[in-house]
Amino acid sequence: MSHWDTLLGHDRVIDQMKRACERGRLSHAYLMSGPAGVGKKMFARKLAQALFCQTPETGSLEACGHCPNCKRFQAGSHPDYYEIGCPEGKKSIPIELFVGSDDHRGREGLCYELSLKPMASDRKIAVIDDAHLMQSESANSLLKTLEEPPPKSLIVLITDRDEAILPTIRSRCQFVRFQPLPHSELVSLILSLGYAVHESQAEALARLSEGSLENARELSQGRLRELTELVASSFGQDRVNPLKLVPEILGWIESAGESTAQRQAAVWLLKVISEDLRLRLRRNVTETVLVDNYHQRLNRLRDAEQQIQEMMPIPLWLEGLIHDLARLSRGVHA
Ligand SMILES: [Zn+2]
Repeated sequence: MSHWDTLLGHDRVIDQMKRACERGRLSHAYLMSGPAGVGKKMFARKLAQALFCQTPETGSLEACGHCPNCKRFQAGSHPDYYEIGCPEGKKSIPIELFVGSDDHRGREGLCYELSLKPMASDRKIAVIDDAHLMQSESANSLLKTLEEPPPKSLIVLITDRDEAILPTIRSRCQFVRFQPLPHSELVSLILSLGYAVHESQAEALARLSEGSLENARELSQGRLRELTELVASSFGQDRVNPLKLVPEILGWIESAGESTAQRQAAVWLLKVISEDLRLRLRRNVTETVLVDNYHQRLNRLRDAEQQIQEMMPIPLWLEGLIHDLARLSRGVHA
């Protein structure tokens, strides 16, 4: 039993890190990049705990789970661990989190903490989540720390947009790339976390989530669940009724917020409809007529995605899309 067992789908990255550790070649800074919601932060935390653990087999990068350091870490109170990210509702990571507030500039924050001697172990570890949301002042402070890293310190930057991180910072970090979660792992996670109850639901949710557990969580809850149910019930009817459906979906899209969020919501609508179509087709695969019809509808969805990219006004876009889908599904009970 390894403490890495609960992190599914990233064996390659785990092996890579373990080998570096065995050879005594861990870097002092990593940039962990890859899609949102695949387990990058969980990986960083497990790495930190393994490095703090007082009873690991030498160089094994494992955590025992019961030594004082493991207990402190699991309780979120390890004095040598520092984790920051973008607070809810903010657009960037506040500078104070790096260098302290105006009154305590240089005497608080991540860069200051890293400069102190470790208290409970032999190193300091800092994790910066949403690292692409650092402003330039923060990035410059961090750069100084990265240029002269305190002995045995470890800094982990986490991002799903590594191209948005300053090249000067990127060049001082070793890259660790995370891939989308494999389908079967995602299905297991969805079931074990209770995002879906039945295997078939979990399968559908996993396909829609594109390898991201975060997407799966959002889809299984709240707004996206509402949409999935609306689509399933409306397109399950013998006749799709655009007069009723268009305003309902438009309301859903508009409640996403500003225009970029509305366009994202529109793209989710397309994913949800195509997954719904796919499920219907699977139940009727033998009829050629249906297969043709299914492809016509899929093509219409593809055009719709193009139109969204071309910034077509959403009400007009939706009106056209739903009417076309309704026409294509007329008389086809699938
Ligand atoms: Zn331990």
